[in-house]
Order: sequence, then C-alpha cells, then structure tokens
Amino acid sequence: MRSVRSALILVLLLALAPAIAAAQTQTPEQFFGFKLGTDGELAKYPKVVEYLQHLAKTTDRVKFEMLGKTTMNNDYVLAIISSPQNLAKLDRLTEINRRLADPRGLSEQEAQALIAEGRPFYFLYATIHSTEVGNGQAINIVAHRLATDNSPAVREILDNSVVLLTPSQNPDGQVLVLDHWYKTKGTSYNRVYPDLYHKYVGHDDNRDWFMFTQVETRLNVEKVQNRFKPVITHDMHQQGTMNSRIFVPPFEDPFDENMHPILRIGQATVGQAMAQALIAEGKEGVAWKEGYDMWTPARQYMVYHGQPRILTEIASVNLADPFVNPAGKDKPLGPQEPRWNFPMPYSKGEWKLAQIVDYGVTVAMAGIQHVAKYRATWLENFYKVHRDWVNWKGTPYAFVVPAAQRDPMATKEMLEILEFGDVELHRATAPFSAGGKQYPAGSVVVKVAQPYGAFAKTMLEVQHYPDLRLFPGGPPEPPYDVTAHTLWMLMGVDVDQIEQPFDAQLELMKQVTPAASTLPSKPKYAYLVGPESNAGFKALAELQKANVPVYRAAKGFEANGKSFAPGTWMIAPAPAAAKILETVAKETGVQVHGIDRAPGVDGYRVKPGTRIGLYRGANVMPGGWMMWLFEQYGFNFQVVSAEDFKGDLAAKYDTIVFPSGLLRQNIVRGLDPARNDPKEWAWAFGVGEEGWKKLGDFVRNGGTLVAVGSSVDTARQLLDLPIEKALPEAQRRRFGAAAAAEPKEQVPASEVERQLKDAFSSPARLMQTLRDRVAEPESLFYCPGSLLQNEFDTAHPVAFGMPEAWPVFFESDQAYRIRPGFDIDAHVVSRYPREKILRSGWLLGEEYLRDQANIVAFRVGKGTAVTLGSQVDYRTQPRGTIKLLFNALFYGPSTEVSAAQMQRLGASGTN
Ligand SMILES: [Zn+2]
Repeated sequence: MRSVRSALILVLLLALAPAIAAAQTQTPEQFFGFKLGTDGELAKYPKVVEYLQHLAKTTDRVKFEMLGKTTMNNDYVLAIISSPQNLAKLDRLTEINRRLADPRGLSEQEAQALIAEGRPFYFLYATIHSTEVGNGQAINIVAHRLATDNSPAVREILDNSVVLLTPSQNPDGQVLVLDHWYKTKGTSYNRVYPDLYHKYVGHDDNRDWFMFTQVETRLNVEKVQNRFKPVITHDMHQQGTMNSRIFVPPFEDPFDENMHPILRIGQATVGQAMAQALIAEGKEGVAWKEGYDMWTPARQYMVYHGQPRILTEIASVNLADPFVNPAGKDKPLGPQEPRWNFPMPYSKGEWKLAQIVDYGVTVAMAGIQHVAKYRATWLENFYKVHRDWVNWKGTPYAFVVPAAQRDPMATKEMLEILEFGDVELHRATAPFSAGGKQYPAGSVVVKVAQPYGAFAKTMLEVQHYPDLRLFPGGPPEPPYDVTAHTLWMLMGVDVDQIEQPFDAQLELMKQVTPAASTLPSKPKYAYLVGPESNAGFKALAELQKANVPVYRAAKGFEANGKSFAPGTWMIAPAPAAAKILETVAKETGVQVHGIDRAPGVDGYRVKPGTRIGLYRGANVMPGGWMMWLFEQYGFNFQVVSAEDFKGDLAAKYDTIVFPSGLLRQNIVRGLDPARNDPKEWAWAFGVGEEGWKKLGDFVRNGGTLVAVGSSVDTARQLLDLPIEKALPEAQRRRFGAAAAAEPKEQVPASEVERQLKDAFSSPARLMQTLRDRVAEPESLFYCPGSLLQNEFDTAHPVAFGMPEAWPVFFESDQAYRIRPGFDIDAHVVSRYPREKILRSGWLLGEEYLRDQANIVAFRVGKGTAVTLGSQVDYRTQPRGTIKLLFNALFYGPSTEVSAAQMQRLGASGTN
C-alpha cells in the first residue's frame, strides 16, 4: 500500500516536473533585473551565458554547451534549442545533416527518407561586432520564447527544426564594450570603447571566414558549422544610424558565382519572410538589396557550405542611449522616398535600443519560423546543393599543388586552411600528367567535384570582379569589401588549375602534415636555411631568444652541390641551434642544410635580440592584425606607448613599425586625455610635436622605421622621404567615398544628380559618389582589394627570399615615384611591371601603376626606413609577401659584414 502510494506520488511528481520547472523559468526581465532594451542598460555577457544555462536547467527544450575559451579567456557557448524529442535524438539528426551534406553513394530514395526524418538546423548568432549591442539583448528574448512559449507557432518551430544559438560570436568584445560602458557612466569619458573590440582584429573579426586565424572563428567553424551542418546561418548586425532602420536580404550584386543558385534564392526567400513579418507588425524602415554584396568568402563561410547567408543589419543608437535626429526630433530618420526595396520609410526622429531589440526578435523569429514551416524543402535544397557539387562536371576539373614548393610552411598552411574548411585533399602516390604537365608523386590534387567544391573553387581560382559602374563609363560601384582572395597567390604557393579530367593514383589525405625534413649532423661552419620560407623567421625568433648568432648571405652561392639564394640564413652550429632548427623543420617542413666551410660571400649579421616596437595606435585594425602576426612568429616586440617618449627610444627599440592606418594624428594627438581615463589609455595618448620630432631623430640617429600602406605617407612626412604619390588620390573603396571618373562632357552637377537620382535606388550613396566625382574630375584609379603583380630586386635584403615576380595585395593603397634628393638615398625594392599588373580582383586605371615603385628602402642619416606602399600583410592573409615586412624589420638593425668577417660565424657556435 505504502509502496503503491509512493509510486503514485512519484508518477505524479514526474508528470508535474515540466510544469514545475517551467514555473521556475525566469523571464529575461526577472533574470536581468530590467526589461531588455531599456535605455542605457545592457545585459552583460557572463550573465547572458548564465541565462542560457538557466533556460537549460529549468526547461526541457534547451541544451547548453561550453564550446571553448576565447582569445581573452571568456566562454564561447552554444544553446541548442528544439523539442525534447528532437534533442533526445540530436546525434541522429546531426548524422542526417552530415549525410545530406555528402550525398555520395546515396540513392534518391535514401535521400528522400533522410529528408522525411531530418530536421533543418538554424544557426543564429549575434554581436560579432561588439558595439552592435542590441542583438545581444534580443537573443535572450528569442531563447526565452523558444524555451517557454506554447503557441502553435513556437511548437511548430520546436517540432520541425533545431535552433543553434550563440549569444555572441565575439564574447571578449561584449565584455570590453559593456564593462567600459558601465565604468564610464556618469563621467566625462567617452562611453564607447576606444580601442579594438577584439584583441587582435577588431571589426575585421567578420573578415576571417576563409583564413580562420582567430580562436572565435575556429570555434564557430569547427564546433558548430562543421559539426552540425546547419542549413542556414543568420548573422545579426547593426548598421549606421542615418540609413534604413533594417537591412534584410536579398543582397546587392555582385555575388560569387560559386554560390549555388538555390542559396541565392534561399537568402532572398528568408530575407523577404523577415521583411514581411516586420511590415506586418508595422515596423517601418525595412530595406533590402542595398549596401551589402555577396562577393568575398572572408565574410561568408556558410554559402560555400550549403547554406544561405542571412545578414540582418539594424540601425544603431548611441550604443545603448537613444539616437535623436541632429536635424530635429520631429525630422524623420533615414531616407523618406518609398521604393520597391524600401516600401515604408521610418516616420520618427528618434530611435531607441528597445526598437533594435524588437526588430531583432522579429527577424530572428521570422527566419526560424520560415525554415521550420518549410522543413522538408530546406533539407531537400540542402541536399540538392551538395548533390550538384559532388556531381560537378564543369571546369575546372581540379587544382594541383605540385610537390616541390618554394615555401613548405606556406604550402602546409594553405592546405590546412582548405582542410579546416572541410575540403577533401588527395595526394598522388605516383607521378602523373595533367593539363599537359608532369607532376611528381606527393603532389596534392583538389577536385572540384566534392561536397565543398564551392569553397575549394572560390579559394583556388582567380577572381574576375565584374566591372560595375554607376552608369556606363561612370564611377565604379564600390564593392562592400575586397575583390580578390586567390589563396595560392596570397600564400606564395604554386597551384595549377586543370580544366579537363585526368587520371592519377590518389589517396585521400587524412591529415595535412608538413613536408618531411631532415637535420644534418653538426656542421663545422654553419647551418643553412633558404630565405624562401617564412619558417626562417620562426627559427630566427627562437634562435635570438637562445642567443645563437644568425647571419644572412648577401649574395647567392653554391655549396654541397646546391644553389643558395641571397638572404640564406646562416646559423652558428651551437647546440641550441640544432634543437631549435629541428623543431622548426619538423613543424614547417623547411629544409635545413649544413656546411663545413664559409662560402666566401659577404653578409649581414642579424642584430641579436632585435627589439621591435609596434606603433599600434588605438583602434587601428592593421596594428591589431600585426600584433597577432608577430605573436605567431614569436618576435621580440612591444607595443609602442606614449610613455616610451619620456625616455630614449633607441634604448628600447631597434625598429619601429607603423601599420597601415597609423596617421600623423594618431601619433601627435592620439586619444584625447580629457575623454579617456589615463590609467587605462595613457599608452595611446598623443606625443605632441616634440614626440614627433623625437621619432624622426630616432631614425636619423641609427634607428629603423618600417611603414606599411597608408602609413607610408606618415613616414614620408616624418622623415621628408624623397617619394611622391603616383596615383590619383580618389581611390578609396566603400560607398563611393571618393571614387572618381573622367567626365565625357561637362554637365552641371545638379543635372547629373537629378538624372541619377531618378535612375538609381540608393540616392544617398550615389550623391556622395557624385560629389567626389565633381571634386576630382580628371582621373580614375580604383583598386578595392586586389592582387597586383610586383617585380622584386631579390638581391636587396628587404626582398630576400622573394621570387622575381609575385602579386602583392593592394587595398586602396598607393604607388610612388622617387623624387630627386641629396640627403636621403632611396632604393626601389619592388615595382609594378609595365604590363599585366592585375592578377586577381578588380583594377581600374592600371596605366597609373606601370613601372611605379611599391617598396622603397632609404638610408636616412645613420638610420634606415623602409616603406611598403601596398599592404603586403593585409589582414595577415598574404603570407607570400609578409616576409617583405619581416625582412624590413630585421634589415635596418643588422650589420654588414665582409666575407672575411663571416668566417667568425663558425667559431661562434660554441655557446
Ligand atoms: Zn556589424
């Protein structure tokens, strides 16, 4: 009796359990202590993580996972939300996704059975850009609704789909920005975080989707994308304050044609479902097909992995405070002319955080709902995309990576990138011929016919960006981002595109491994490492730490029956050297040689422990990227601080490097001390005219200055370098900021403006372009992120290890002419050739570049300056040209030594 009763109670309790649990579930308002969207208030990231855990604990619809730690050791998390039944068979549902994503050997009937059984996964994430805070709030409301709502609409979502929800794609930035927001409350300090909101890459954190350099990118790809194979990814952003209230897909032209047509229509369909929901709820200011294009894989991993890319961009406020139209509160915000892609202009003069949150919830729910409602269609389309890729019969057939490469390290990195993107790689087990060329065994074949052939193809082919103009012969229509990403050109690796099928004995590579390397037995004179591989710099950093003397040969020479190029690393045969070289060789595949006698050439003695100062500047993205790069190589560097100028710069640094984007004002004025707490920001304050002069003296007295991209002009101003710009000024990208065109005839600007206003759908953008056009009428040069051929003087230390010609990355950069000068000696290290400059991407006005200088090395007093006009280190992606930057860093501080003096190296190997 008793046992029956307790059993009954137990049954009753179990039956009640979900109800009890649900009763305990707190709303976001209860949990965070305020209504999300309240002016000036923001739910902080760690608390958001706790909230998702709370939902997982108190409901049966949420599974919470810690996926890993971020760059700054915050939690990167995922909530998986669906019906309890679906969650119970999550592994099976994932397996179905994976099978549909790789349908080789799957019959049509089997595919249909899997589609009938499966559930589409919708991947939603917010705040990759950390000041776009509204979506990070909205996502809690979405999670709560899905976890607790019992309406038929939510039931349908839960039964028919699985939602993968990551509250922030950059948790570090949420912590930095929100902590700063609260810390500065009630102070006169700037409320918005004044530096990069990702330790290394700041706003560029969503430009990393093919290079996978950052921890957060890798967590997303490895632990969500590649693991679950979602059918769609929704990336929630915010845009400026003065445009439409929200952008939803479809996007503008151009799109990468490697994006399957099903995905092109898929993004439009979901985007329009979102627009419909917004408009039906009376939410004004919805726009589509404007501003955002679908060209570069740097922003869109998903579209090469079977998913439409859903980007939503909501108008911002003053971080969390309301935004009021500066023209008056009664003046409506944003464009006021209705268009087919902007049917309902926004009618108010104020915009608040609560509205961002509201719009965000609406689009997230609408997108999820659409996919759930058309469950089978989404799975079927996902299957069809991959079915078409695995059955690819078009051209090219494949890409071949020949076995012998100049830089085994870069080759390995390139293959690892493809591997990380789930691309299948095959290794030839015997020699073969393809495209009329012979390849040795060990060459790698990347076939296009494979599940992620889209990714392989877009990364390995040459980009031909369409010549988009605002009107025929008119100014270029600026791309949203860069136009070239040909991976082998970026990496400095030789790859052949093979159009027609060929036969070869191939084995699937299980894992990319470095080329086999051997270490010679201890040589009497020196170890040698060729200058072609970036691995030489990995070794240098370690050798410097171990105080091993390192020299470079000034000229090429023959030894052991082999040719060694100018710049060959010559390393004292110290015991520490053997260990270091063995480790680096194993890791990178670089070949280490040994010689017993000095080769009789002059050389350079690399300064022991070369001290590098990175003038990063606050919020200068290329400086952040450079910091990451230097850390990867283990260089002995520090970020230059304004405090350093109190002492002798030369006592601290041998070389100071300006990343692109570091302007005179960053140095002289820096962050405003009145607006930024000196305890935290003194390093980034200005150094004034006195500091500016001190910096010049640092170089003239023997220091080295290296400048990249736009900072070349900063260096020119600092040292009065004898160079002048060879390109017309008007050449920045994005929204026609300064695109210029040669007018066919002089028409009054107002008339052209009127005509164009009629003709095009984005008047604001067009007007800006026109204003620039009128201001700069005589010439057109335009290169928004392309790969351009350069010729190198490989005998010069700055170009050691480069091939005679190779493309450099050029993103709205400059080329230079040498001015006559008496005081400063200038040597052109690289130049643009006379023809065939464009290798990949888009270039207008090629004639301006012909025979103009890119990299120049100067003797300035007792010191050295090196200017690299194009961004050879752009986002750290062009690994084939970063050695130019690296060479420059170490070249100035090194000492020229004669062949006779070089003899000493052998004897110095005893430490
Ligand atoms: Zn954004």
